[in-house]
Amino acid sequence: MELPFAEPYRIKMVESIRCSTREQREQWIKDAGYNLFNLRSDQVFIDLLTDSGTGAMSDKQWSEMMLGDESYAGASSYYKLKAAIQDLLGFEYFLPTHQGRAAENVLFSVLVKAGDVVPGNSHFDTTKGHIEFRKAKAIDCTIDEAFNTTIEHPFKGNLDLNKLEDVLKNHPREQVSMVIVTITCNSSGGQPVSMANMKGVKELAGKYGVPVIFDSARFAENAYFIKTREEGQQDKNIREIVAEMFSYADGMTMSSKKDAIVNIGGFIALRDPELFRKASVFNIMFEGFLTYGGLAGRDLNAIAQGLYEATDFNYLKSRVGQVALLGQKLTGFGVPVQLPYGGHAIFIDASQVLSHIPKEHFRAQTLCVELYIEAGIRGVEIGAIMADRDPVTRETRYPTLELMRLAIPRRTYTNDHMNYVAVAMGNVYERRLQITSGYAIVEEAPIMRHFTVKLSKI
Ligand SMILES: *Cc1c(COP(=O)(O)O)cnc(C)c1O
Repeated sequence: MELPFAEPYRIKMVESIRCSTREQREQWIKDAGYNLFNLRSDQVFIDLLTDSGTGAMSDKQWSEMMLGDESYAGASSYYKLKAAIQDLLGFEYFLPTHQGRAAENVLFSVLVKAGDVVPGNSHFDTTKGHIEFRKAKAIDCTIDEAFNTTIEHPFKGNLDLNKLEDVLKNHPREQVSMVIVTITCNSSGGQPVSMANMKGVKELAGKYGVPVIFDSARFAENAYFIKTREEGQQDKNIREIVAEMFSYADGMTMSSKKDAIVNIGGFIALRDPELFRKASVFNIMFEGFLTYGGLAGRDLNAIAQGLYEATDFNYLKSRVGQVALLGQKLTGFGVPVQLPYGGHAIFIDASQVLSHIPKEHFRAQTLCVELYIEAGIRGVEIGAIMADRDPVTRETRYPTLELMRLAIPRRTYTNDHMNYVAVAMGNVYERRLQITSGYAIVEEAPIMRHFTVKLSKI
């Protein structure tokens, strides 16, 4: 028999998680205003709110924490991370930041000015936020296939080069800040970008003299998809693929809370000394001195070690495989999920599951509440509540897709937990027609309302 694949690690320390009863959960979610962000974490059994900063560090990462050098300037931890970035990602210059959005804030302070356009593939919300905050415009050039959840396309994160060329052609060079390539593309469901597409983007942007910046939070998962899905890439190892990917970028921003498998941290990496020099000024202003950037020395060490672990093929195989396992089980129960399965999360199509509830009653949010009550699982709404009101008309923007995202933290839950989640969701799916009412907003913030919104049952 062929041996089955198993996780390339074993568990050295465990953290208890609290079981609860349906009656307790009904009370807690009511007290939380039916907003899962308002739950206390000990009211949650399996927390799939996000894969950001929620992963389990390894024994080697914890050892690196002890070796952290907390010198204000010139710490050995800084040089350790600098060497790891140079070795794995191929960038000579780097700036540490406290997380991914801070890297955006620093770099965009140099590159983005009012009136600019920033083409890319479904910009992440903080990325878009930092662009729009500077009165510039993010232009989505993702391929059309990305917006149909049922089409099987291996690289739904790809940019449409025709859409990109239209943007580059129709704006003067000084108005285009950069091209942003998000790997993997979070907003379109953790979908990867192919090597060929990265190369194509770089060539095209180069023709117009525009820099290419990779928003790299899940770069290692993207590399795994390239190896397993793209013609001609099978025989390369993950680190060779990673090195080639970044050879098509002039710089990158990183949320280390994702593929560096740490709980906090980020960085910018660059090739151009002049851009590095300009960004350094903002890094000192917003983040801290150049050799720590808002982090402790021990954090820099853990990130360096995490980058090596995240680019290990067997780690990635078990990581992406666990996400796919949940997807397959859900598909087996007939639950409509986005295809192909993403690298870090499974997206359930709530408008299909609860098509009998009006969209004004927030189908995806209703599904999140039901799954929590069913089994203590916390997912997150990617739907009309998160899409928010139009800044001008103040009308709710109903997105094309109402999704419930189940994001899987790295190395944190077992496959038995995935089975539990799948069965719980299968139960909710089976009784979907008995769910007859959704929710109405009773209190909301003027912007980013999903974090603090309070709802009542209709
Ligand atoms: C998480 C994320 C960010 C922002 O990073 P934070 O560390 O949360 O500030 C930016 N881009 C992408 C694609 C992300 O997934």
